[in-house]
Amino acid sequence: AKEVGRNTFAFFQDDMQAISDKRLSREKSLHRALSKNEFEVYYQPQNDDQGHIIGAEALLRWNDPDDGFISPDEFISVAEEIGLIHDIGRFVFQESARQVAQWRKEGIWKDDWRISINVSPIQFLHPNLVPDITDALEKSGLPASAVDLEITENMLMSDLELALSKMAQIRALGIHLSIDDFGTGYSSLKYLKELPINRLKIDQSFVRDLIDDPNDRAIVLAVIAMAKALGVNVLAEGVETQAHFDHLKAMECFTYQGYFFGRPCPAIQFAELCRNPFKV
Ligand code: C2E
Ligand code: CA
Ligand code: CA
Ligand code: CA
Repeated sequence: AKEVGRNTFAFFQDDMQAISDKRLSREKSLHRALSKNEFEVYYQPQNDDQGHIIGAEALLRWNDPDDGFISPDEFISVAEEIGLIHDIGRFVFQESARQVAQWRKEGIWKDDWRISINVSPIQFLHPNLVPDITDALEKSGLPASAVDLEITENMLMSDLELALSKMAQIRALGIHLSIDDFGTGYSSLKYLKELPINRLKIDQSFVRDLIDDPNDRAIVLAVIAMAKALGVNVLAEGVETQAHFDHLKAMECFTYQGYFFGRPCPAIQFAELCRNPFKV
């Protein structure tokens, strides 16, 4: 038994070594990625029940010369740990604001559309958030009313007072706030009614099996009813099929995002999509 124990420990150590080696090399390449412009902002449309575009979500892509495209789910948390998330976030603000402002000038992007930008709790609570956003708006000329920040319920957990005052500051600038991945976090209904938010985004995990799973259907219906009662908008994520769309519309959810309407794509392709819009 002692032998087994030692071997197991040896394996464990090797695994840990491999994981930390991989992390270290990823840390190094993240720094390089920023300086070498390996990041790109992709855009995914958000649509209404007529299929008309109402805005887009900015989704970060990292094209690593060695590893190819790396998903944000893999590098955002590392970037947070090494403090690089603020520089990365600043890039996303600057680049998406510049692009959307240009599209507005070209008439591709309508005045009432919004660009949704993801902000993790660490970013949102950081003192640089507001200066970074206002700088991006000033440089690009994009009005604050064209911007929506996507935040998560979990942000409320770390420091509720700070979160609330940050939210009030952002709203005072004229920027909209959406709660992302709604239903997967821990926000209590008691807080929800106090929050100065404009929209709930129903997490895609509830939409996926909406048609077959009565529990998911019940949750989605409850969120839609709650949004209505709170007087906020509701958008369903992960809308992949006509059936998803039909069901959600019947449940009186009237805004959507998902592969059914368009995948996240580079700016050039998104502009093309705007010129030849999707028809439902
Ligand atoms: P998220 O904010 O929940 O973004 C939605 C994710 O669902 C995206 O994954 C998108 O590509 C994917 N998606 C969209 N429509 C569908 C669909 O119909 N079906 C399915 N199965 N998936 C769909 P992505 O782009 O890999 O991003 C993953 C996460 O990384 C995001 O989840 C967000 O939390 C984070 N992220 C992305 N960009 C940024 C960023 O600029 N800053 C920060 N802080 N986080 C980001
Ligand atoms: Ca999001
Ligand atoms: Ca989401
Ligand atoms: Ca997510």
